[in-house]
Amino acid sequence: MKKLIDKLYSETKLSRDEYIELISRHTQEDAEYLFSLAVKRRREYYGNDVYVRGLIEFTNYCKNDCFYCGIRRSNKCAQRYRLGQDDIMSCCEEGHALGFRTFVLQGGEDPYFTDERICGIVSQIKSEYPDCAVTLSIGEKEHESYRAYFDAGADRYLLRHETASAEHYGRLHPSEMSHSHRIKCLYDLKSIGYQVGCGFMVGSPFQTSENLADDMLFIKELSPHMVGIGPFISQHDTPFYDKKSGTLEQTLFMLGLIRLTLPYVLLPATTALGTIHPLGREKGILAGANVVMPNLSPVSVRKKYLLYDNKICTGDEAAECKNCLQMRMKSIGYNVVTARGDCAVL
Ligand code: SAH
Repeated sequence: MKKLIDKLYSETKLSRDEYIELISRHTQEDAEYLFSLAVKRRREYYGNDVYVRGLIEFTNYCKNDCFYCGIRRSNKCAQRYRLGQDDIMSCCEEGHALGFRTFVLQGGEDPYFTDERICGIVSQIKSEYPDCAVTLSIGEKEHESYRAYFDAGADRYLLRHETASAEHYGRLHPSEMSHSHRIKCLYDLKSIGYQVGCGFMVGSPFQTSENLADDMLFIKELSPHMVGIGPFISQHDTPFYDKKSGTLEQTLFMLGLIRLTLPYVLLPATTALGTIHPLGREKGILAGANVVMPNLSPVSVRKKYLLYDNKICTGDEAAECKNCLQMRMKSIGYNVVTARGDCAVL
């Protein structure tokens, strides 16, 4: 296995069969070796810096019905909320004072937020905080909508592809949702000029090593600026309430593979990773990640944006979240930096 890891390190890609072999047959020792090379590679581009993104979860209304997600439209137990433009601006004000220079606006696909409203929010943030990047993560839209948000000033867009396999996608989503449309969205976003992030859940129901290998090939082909991955975690009011969650071990291994496949990529150690293990985010950084995303949403709504069970940090103020992550990163020898943190290469 070490040979394959060396090959990935020097060539930044493997064949499908080689990825499958690594993913399905590696030992703990292989994983440690992978992480050491992933950290080395990450250092070449980003040193020991870890970027922070202020996450604002501004609506949990959603018109979609993804089987895994706690804010799916059929979940009658979800207490719905949306933040108004002024609430969002207060989050940014607080975040800016704390040193955040990227705001990530994430939400369900909420028809209340028309293109006009999204553009209004984006342009107000950009005019009050011209030194900041705005990232949108609001799902699948048409090309012209993405264009309008970009023209209003949005810099980046996160849209996890969820799985590169159309067949697997069909088992995670109702038939009204289309894998090919989601993939088209990612290419649209790239062609418009966004810094783009794709990603997937590790250990999602029915996922195979072949699926994960296809995710790696897809990521290599798309060459996004960011990749967001985290373990699937079951949510008790969804159809997948009794499905097994993804593991720490497998998520870390995929982080290492992604770092070696896309050396320059911005790679978050996600809240979901911190949820399945108390030191999940630290371990994520030590496996090759270089971004953390503390929550800036008002504490009053935090407990309502529950995509999965036992989500951490739902009671802490933004400042506490930032301090906590700063301490955690310091404890492993990394510095949280306040720079905008654009991608080192693309
Ligand atoms: N609606 C937006 C963004 C919100 S969901 C969109 O479609 O992009 C953000 C991400 O959370 C999803 O892409 C998914 O990968 C992840 N997610 C949803 N439910 C989850 C669960 N049960 N466990 C882990 N991650 C989950």
